[in-house]
Amino acid sequence: MSTAGKSCVTGLACIVCGREYPAGNVLTCDRCGPADGILEVRYDYGAAAKTLTRENLALRRRDHWRYREVLPVGPDVAVPPLSVGWTPVLDAPRLAAHLGVARLVVKDDGRNPTASFKDRASSVGVAKAVEFGYDTVACASTGNAASSLAGMSASVGLRSFIFVPQRAPEPKVAQLLLFGATVLRVRGTYDQAYDLCMQATAAHGWYNRNCAVNSYLVEGKKTAGLEMGEQLGEALPDWVAVSVGDGCTIAGVWRGLREMHTLGFIPRLPRLLAVQAEGSPAVARQFRAVGEPPLAEYPAATVADSICVGVPRNWRKAVRAVRESGGTFVTVTDEAILDAIGYTPRLTGVFGEPAGVAALAGIAAARRDGVIAAGESVLALITGNGLKDIRTAISVAGAPHDLDPTLEALDRVLAASK
Ligand SMILES: *Cc1c(COP(=O)(O)O)cnc(C)c1O
Repeated sequence: MSTAGKSCVTGLACIVCGREYPAGNVLTCDRCGPADGILEVRYDYGAAAKTLTRENLALRRRDHWRYREVLPVGPDVAVPPLSVGWTPVLDAPRLAAHLGVARLVVKDDGRNPTASFKDRASSVGVAKAVEFGYDTVACASTGNAASSLAGMSASVGLRSFIFVPQRAPEPKVAQLLLFGATVLRVRGTYDQAYDLCMQATAAHGWYNRNCAVNSYLVEGKKTAGLEMGEQLGEALPDWVAVSVGDGCTIAGVWRGLREMHTLGFIPRLPRLLAVQAEGSPAVARQFRAVGEPPLAEYPAATVADSICVGVPRNWRKAVRAVRESGGTFVTVTDEAILDAIGYTPRLTGVFGEPAGVAALAGIAAARRDGVIAAGESVLALITGNGLKDIRTAISVAGAPHDLDPTLEALDRVLAASK
């Protein structure tokens, strides 16, 4: 018998009114509209559990397509050839001591093909675009979803149109230009780039890779949670810390963790520590508000460009995920994020971009506030590689020792730096 696994998708359902749709080319609920009527993919978990077992998984490809039962991609669909997911988890005892937690595990998602977590979603988006017969895809992005979609599109020969805000870091823009994307740098914020992209996909009939409206993409994001469950099992820490911009990532991770709990891979669910920048706290504010009040637009500014979002598109899913987990939100200053850019690579060997290490700054804050107890363990998801925003990294890194090529010169340097 084949161990490859077949998708057990049964359909889509609106998260507001519950209306069901076949798992085809639909984005949002007709009845509830594109702003609220976000759809969710449904599966037959009983059927999935029959073949999605540790024994079968041990024989499968080491990327995120190993979870085909709970992915919305049929057996005949060609997936992009780039290897996405199955990123390493490593114990980080020195960073644990620095942050004051009993145990710290780091999951390095900067190891994905275009160097961020976003490849998980883009790979599913591109597979769906190909399945539905599109030759062009589009997205709006603070940078990483953009370079990720451009890279995945390049790997299968799709055209990509990418809308980025004016302040997207140059390395990310260079990356997507090199992948052959048409880059539309909007004079405005990410939020304005997003609105323009939504209008453009509707006007030109491009496939829409925006996680907030495309339920299939969240299925890609959840694979980080599936992997945490499989890689750590009973050793999964008490908390999982994730940085939050729009909120799709943390909602996806939670969905993956819940599925691994349903499928019996983990005995209990962790609590989520959602980390936002103090200068971009919209989702955290919604979490603290009573009930689910309408989102108030809030000007966003932070060094962590990937989580700089004034109008989060998926705050409801993120807030619900964090509540359901018994977790909480913390906000961290840019100073704390810059600190984490320095101590994380020094204490772990893993180099993350600002939004990538924000989770660690969040753990420090949560320990200080007593949210995480000293005896508790934490997994930090590092969502993007440090080379993604090399300017910020350089501003933290300091300067090397300049010297003449002689032993005497070296000795002088060593003596001075004792
Ligand atoms: C997109 C992104 C995030 C946050 O994801 P959201 O879905 O916007 O909450 C965090 N870190 C990095 C590196 C990202 O690219």
